Amino acid sequence: MSDKIPIIAADRVSDHAKKTLDIVRKFVEERCIPADPIFHAQIGDDGPAKWDHYPTVIDDLKKEARKLGLWNMFLPKGHYKESPGFTNLEYGLMAEYLGKSRVASEAVNCAAPDTGNMEVLAKYGNEAQKKQWLKPLMDGEIRSAFLMTEPDIASSDATNIKLSMKQEGNEWVLNGDKWWSSGAGDPRCKIYIVMGKSDPNNKDPYRQQSVILVPADTPGITINRMLNVYGYDDAPHGHGHLTFKNVRVPASNMVLGPGRGFEIIQGRLGPGRIHHAMRAIGAAEKALEWMLYRINDSTKTPFGKQLKEHGVILEWVAKSRIEIDAARLIVLNAAIKIDAVGAKGALKEIAEAKVLVPSMALTVIDRAVQSFGGAGVSQDTPLANMWANIRTLRLADGPDEVHLQQLGKNENKRGRDATDNILRQKKITEELYAVYNVRHIQPGPQAKL
Ligand SMILES: Cc1cc2nc3c(=O)[nH]c(=O)nc-3n(C[C@H](O)[C@H](O)[C@H](O)COP(=O)(O)OP(=O)(O)OC[C@H]3O[C@@H](n4cnc5c(N)ncnc54)[C@H](O)[C@@H]3O)c2cc1C
Repeated sequence: MSDKIPIIAADRVSDHAKKTLDIVRKFVEERCIPADPIFHAQIGDDGPAKWDHYPTVIDDLKKEARKLGLWNMFLPKGHYKESPGFTNLEYGLMAEYLGKSRVASEAVNCAAPDTGNMEVLAKYGNEAQKKQWLKPLMDGEIRSAFLMTEPDIASSDATNIKLSMKQEGNEWVLNGDKWWSSGAGDPRCKIYIVMGKSDPNNKDPYRQQSVILVPADTPGITINRMLNVYGYDDAPHGHGHLTFKNVRVPASNMVLGPGRGFEIIQGRLGPGRIHHAMRAIGAAEKALEWMLYRINDSTKTPFGKQLKEHGVILEWVAKSRIEIDAARLIVLNAAIKIDAVGAKGALKEIAEAKVLVPSMALTVIDRAVQSFGGAGVSQDTPLANMWANIRTLRLADGPDEVHLQQLGKNENKRGRDATDNILRQKKITEELYAVYNVRHIQPGPQAKL
């Protein structure tokens, strides 16, 4: 049974999860990673036509995954009746493997943004909304997008969101622009979860927004273009720039109720914020494997030696090992805290993982790129694409700085206590000077030889 669980977490993982983890590992290593190039080949490079279809290899992998019992593992135990019964910790260990392959998360129906969107529907949707949208998402029959970010405002502060939502009779009418709508390019994407401003005059800036369900084929929606990430278009998923012009949706599509948008987006990004971090650990592991592959290549011997014989390279390997293992503990700690007290009580741990892991993974991937020389930045290894993907995690779900500011503010709440503690210790030291009848001597520069 799985020997890859850090000792610190092993007792918290059920036997069923340990067995499933082994099945995930085998499925990813033997079925998904080898299928990644097929996925890209099936997308093709036919310009705009590539957005009309999706790689069918994914359908075969989905069938296999379901047979193996690998499906929707992200929905945490105890919170949702639809959950297959794993804790966030257990899913975190599985997600690490999923992060090693382009197709794996989707093959087991654990891909973003559907995961966060399913959580929104499971947590806040009414029965009719669940039946219409959650069910086909849970069954992997359709895909979805979450539309919050807008091109004309600083979206990291979501009070700025301005897509207008006006109620007219039994309908809401939507007007405005959205971009970075990830997943909107996929022909299977049938539902947009849209955040807009429904009550701009509300005195409480956190009650001005609402979240509404908009079927992707609603008249008035135009996909203007797909945005690139460092030149990658991420087809068939894509990142859309969309315009809404007098888009009408029934009032019954409102989630939770008007003015509840902030509540929903905050609830959406609890565990979801660390799913990316969990997968990024897997990406870092994969980069390290590629680095090992390159440095042991006996056909490449710069200055008469294989790369593994150059001291600095082994140092990169060692540092990468340490950094990945340390970052994994941060992620698993956040998952354990969510399991114990819920996402609200684990905001600090979630933010720590959200900020630390992508930076760590970027460092490891960069070392692997460097070890490959020119090939590292080319299409001949997965490393360049992985770097571009992971780099976006420092922005997506809120930029690092926003999380750091909140972490810093909270940490600084201890400022008064820290000051009092140091002053108290200084006072005791003064008393000790008197007790021992010694004078003040600072260690260091003043000491005479
Ligand atoms: C690949 C990718 C996928 C995405 N997918 C989605 C999606 O599916 N749905 C969606 O709605 N959005 C998505 N986004 C958008 C993402 O969430 C936003 O880009 C992010 O929240 C930042 O908003 P912004 O781009 O408007 O930048 P701005 O808000 O303009 O911020 C710009 C920069 O200002 C700095 N900054 C902001 N606040 C502070 C602060 N408090 N202190 C110091 N500096 C600060 C940060 O460095 C920040 O990067 C995606 C983005 C990318 C790159």
